[in-house]
Amino acid sequence: MKIDVRTVGAFEENCYLVVDETSGRAVLVDPGDDGPRLIEMVQASGAVLDAIWLTHAHLDHIGAINSVRAVYPVPVRLHPLDLPFYESMSAQAARMYGLPWDQPAVAPVPIDDGDVLTCGSARFTVMHVPGHAPGHVSFNADDIALSGDLLFTGSIGRTDLPLCDPYAMDTSLVRFGTLPATTKVYPGHGAATTIGRELETDPFLTGRARAIKR
Ligand SMILES: [Zn+2]
Ligand SMILES: [Zn+2]
Repeated sequence: MKIDVRTVGAFEENCYLVVDETSGRAVLVDPGDDGPRLIEMVQASGAVLDAIWLTHAHLDHIGAINSVRAVYPVPVRLHPLDLPFYESMSAQAARMYGLPWDQPAVAPVPIDDGDVLTCGSARFTVMHVPGHAPGHVSFNADDIALSGDLLFTGSIGRTDLPLCDPYAMDTSLVRFGTLPATTKVYPGHGAATTIGRELETDPFLTGRARAIKR
């Protein structure tokens, strides 16, 4: 399996291309902005794009869905608890930030905790990790997690935005932290890391900082 990435848009969001080299199939995770660069990434891989998977539906993770789907009309997978963002709140947020907005036209196909999604011969398990957003998920393979805005290198996703739940975030981080220490984490923003490294150094996992303000 090969993971490619482009960092796109005003929020410097990471859009990942997962390529299963044995089958030549690919999946695009969180196409947030700059559709032409993402389409170029898919074309450069030489793989066939099968789907778009969303960790959650904040504006910086879904803004290029339309432009990508104009070339690759593939299904979009999203946990239904993030439909409020997908359908209207991300558009409102874009207006608030004064950013151009391309409202996704396609209805997403629902995913839920424990679902197994395939990218060619590669298998990813959906882990529902709410907190940063109610329908936030991580896509977990054997030694890889595409974790959106759950966990960052040295930090975690914000819990002060609309529909955030700091208590759920705490529970989600504990659950995510039970993945094998060697699991490579590909976050929605910033550099990749590992579960082991964050368990040792991330103040939100070592207990020195908490999502819940006490
Ligand atoms: Zn987010
Ligand atoms: Zn984000």
